[in-house]
Amino acid sequence: MSVTHFSPRDARDPLALAPEECGRGHACQFCPQEETCRLEKGHHEKRLIESRLAGIGQIIMVMANKGGVGKSTVSANLAAGLAARGYRVGVADADIHGPNQSRFFGCVGERVRIDKRGLGPRAFRTEGIDHPIQVGSLAFMMERDDTPIVWRDAYKHDFMHHLIGSFDWGPLDFLVIDMPPGTGNELITLADLLEGHDVAALLATTPQEVALMDSLKAVRFCQERQLPLLGVVENMAGVTCPHCGGEFHLFPRAHLAEALAEVGVESLAQIPLSPALASGSDAGRPIVLDDPQGLEARAFLPAVEACIAHASEAFAAAAADSLQALSQHPSMPDELSGELEAALASVPDDQRDALRTELGALLGTGGGPFPDNDDASR
Ligand code: ADP
Repeated sequence: MSVTHFSPRDARDPLALAPEECGRGHACQFCPQEETCRLEKGHHEKRLIESRLAGIGQIIMVMANKGGVGKSTVSANLAAGLAARGYRVGVADADIHGPNQSRFFGCVGERVRIDKRGLGPRAFRTEGIDHPIQVGSLAFMMERDDTPIVWRDAYKHDFMHHLIGSFDWGPLDFLVIDMPPGTGNELITLADLLEGHDVAALLATTPQEVALMDSLKAVRFCQERQLPLLGVVENMAGVTCPHCGGEFHLFPRAHLAEALAEVGVESLAQIPLSPALASGSDAGRPIVLDDPQGLEARAFLPAVEACIAHASEAFAAAAADSLQALSQHPSMPDELSGELEAALASVPDDQRDALRTELGALLGTGGGPFPDNDDASR
């Protein structure tokens, strides 16, 4: 906001207004007082995004350079698989042209609630998960689910910011982002927004030649942006005949395997073309939770494991950095132990105490080196 927007009757120094906060957890566009508010809007938005990201451990962007290859299906079932392992998981539906996560998690037609804390994601609860999966989608903000959306670039940019900053995600171990297909503006906006945070990408593709060609563009995007690419989930890779149990492949995967090896990307999982997977998605129940021992859930498992392994490594690296910093600054143990405690907040509840004890032993302070910090160990 330019200072010329301030009313001349305002005697306060405009620059002094910047740090003042309204305390609302959503963007100014959702605020009834937007027109009359004189606080610095850019500052508010930046603070919102920073505070949301501070509560999120690992971000997984599920990308595809083509629509219809099963990116949303992979996002939903990956999130479900992580939740089944006891993690706190959110799904951010960034597929602004076809937001489908409300369908995949059984909340079609639900509308977003706004309160002081921000936009409320919808909580998906079912047996087998300790924490509800938090779903945030544009679909919750539209009057009708079947309304086509015409986007101008500026609105796309705003929506990506609202998705991360305005939804009240709460503390999460993983935020799975269902990206729009392609490597256009939306992806660049999000990659910019998330820079400096723990973000990794997973690429969904079908083994078809035409999808492969496009997927390699997404691989290049990740490499250029130095975005860790955990690997590829091959979707619709093989069909099991419901009558004879025989397996066959709709798309030969020889080229895909070859091309991925050439660019140094691992194929993490092969998900079959499965009627049960499609009907589970339509019914709003991710099959990974509905039939945890089934063929489909087992097929998703390596991708789930890869996300957990990456997040654990990223956490261990951050903890090692903090330890190193601590050893170099023995005069500031309180500040740094607070930092470690904040890092521990991204570890699942059942592992946190064991890790805290281990770090305590490493620091030579017994089992409890960190001050009690209710906020950090939410
Ligand atoms: P995208 O997000 O890439 O556009 P979706 O995940 O929405 O793709 O999938 C497109 C359609 O294909 C959906 O109806 C979905 O249920 C179905 N689908 C995706 N993967 C599979 C699969 N492995 N087996 C059966 N149906 C699938």
